[in-house]
Amino acid sequence: MTYQVETQRQLSLGDYEGVAQLSAAVRDLRTEAGRLVRYFQNRRVWMVSSTPRGGGVAEQLLPLVSLMCEFGVDTRWLVMEPDEPDFFRLTKRLHNLIHGQGDPDLSPDERQLYERVSRDTADALRADIAPGDVVVIHDPQPLGAGAMLRESMDITAIWQCHIGLDQETPQTRAAWAFLGGYAQAYDRAVFSAPQYIPGCVAGRAMIIHPAIDPLSHKNRDLPVHKLVGILTNANLVRPYGPVLTPAFPEPARRLEPDGSWAPATAREDIGLLFRPIVTQVSRWDRLKGFLPLMRGFIALKQGVDGEPEPQDWPRRALHLARLVLAGPDPGSIADDPEAQEVLAEIGDAYVRLEPDLQEAVVILSLPMGSQKYNALMVNALQRCSDVVVQNSLSEGFGLTATEAMWKQTAVMGSRAVGLRQQIRPGLDGCLVENPEDPAEIAHMLGELLRDQPKREALARSAQQRVYDEFLIFTQIRHWLELISDTVKMRQDGAPRAHSA
Ligand code: UDP
Repeated sequence: MTYQVETQRQLSLGDYEGVAQLSAAVRDLRTEAGRLVRYFQNRRVWMVSSTPRGGGVAEQLLPLVSLMCEFGVDTRWLVMEPDEPDFFRLTKRLHNLIHGQGDPDLSPDERQLYERVSRDTADALRADIAPGDVVVIHDPQPLGAGAMLRESMDITAIWQCHIGLDQETPQTRAAWAFLGGYAQAYDRAVFSAPQYIPGCVAGRAMIIHPAIDPLSHKNRDLPVHKLVGILTNANLVRPYGPVLTPAFPEPARRLEPDGSWAPATAREDIGLLFRPIVTQVSRWDRLKGFLPLMRGFIALKQGVDGEPEPQDWPRRALHLARLVLAGPDPGSIADDPEAQEVLAEIGDAYVRLEPDLQEAVVILSLPMGSQKYNALMVNALQRCSDVVVQNSLSEGFGLTATEAMWKQTAVMGSRAVGLRQQIRPGLDGCLVENPEDPAEIAHMLGELLRDQPKREALARSAQQRVYDEFLIFTQIRHWLELISDTVKMRQDGAPRAHSA
């Protein structure tokens, strides 16, 4: 019902300190952490989530847990594993409702299912968690289990909700009516943006922005040979000569014009090293806006005149540009049962395109068998993109944007709250007003692809912004402060709200 994730890494704090660009941030954090860890004494901190891989939460927990341990806080990561497959269908429904999407009518059977799995998960968690420990529950899936644990054990409980919407709709009201009682059992709740805080946790909510690990396989610098080696080993680039490193066990796969899947360069080279590339990498989720992005890119291509080989630079850039839509192999992420369906929808639209437009769009399924290779593929794809897009209709935060900004790649986001937290339009990137409007997407992408100096200026500022606000060091400092403060508050006997 739950299992512990191995979080030992080869990286240590010393490695971060050894990077000129990062050493000041690590030194500051060491000083701050030294002051705060005394509140932890023998307490363990338990992170509880619903999947060990795929998506932003899993992405952040590995470095967070392992670096907290290095600062002297014994931190572990548990993943829930419900026996009932319908549970993740229900929690995906709740996820969509929190984003304002779907049928708001939640049935008594769904409540019973949620209660049942939460109770079983709480029982399983009790085997590991001891009185006095701190439990940090991530997202709605394990929320109920954490609430039940908090009710029955002397623990400090914090709920981090990574998603939200900046409006109240019948859908969000239904989601919070369902989840609010559990959320009230917690000592504190953490959100990624102030607009997301629901009434049920008002007064106990904090903001901690998500963050990236600059030395992870996803974000570390890739010298040219390494970058080209990864693209070649993943089958994303055709080699022109002998290659030093061996092929990855599973190649990236590309959707073929007839709707079948093949190794990504089986038919032709994608042009990642030579063409202007626009990329979106995300989970296959409708809210990520893949389909409208594809329509926008096609509108851009249709607007380019039919001259076979334009010679002037801006028109040539548009002529040669390709759109890469990439996401995880859809069978691989346990808590995201809609992925297969969403990818099939995108595939149907792709198969119906005219051949010359099909040629401009590349749909990639990235294998998840090895997290390291998957991360390296995403890293390399982001680095060889001229523009990274995150066209989300709704977005909790959007680490894919943060990752690209850190790599000094120009980003185009939507006005979804999460992306607005990061991208100051015109300064660190661009934001489309309406991610479902192909004409606006085409216009903005066209401007970016034609204007290299503009892309470079945006990308420089974007990297600085991530350095200042969204690196793991800032996040760890906020967690140490929040946990020590919450533990102190409980020791001082401050009253807490009762759960419903
Ligand atoms: N991601 C990945 N492989 C993929 C697709 C996505 O590693 O094939 C990662 C992506 O790089 C990012 C995370 O999954 O780190 C997605 O986080 P984000 O906050 O953008 O969205 P979420 O999935 O949490 O909604």
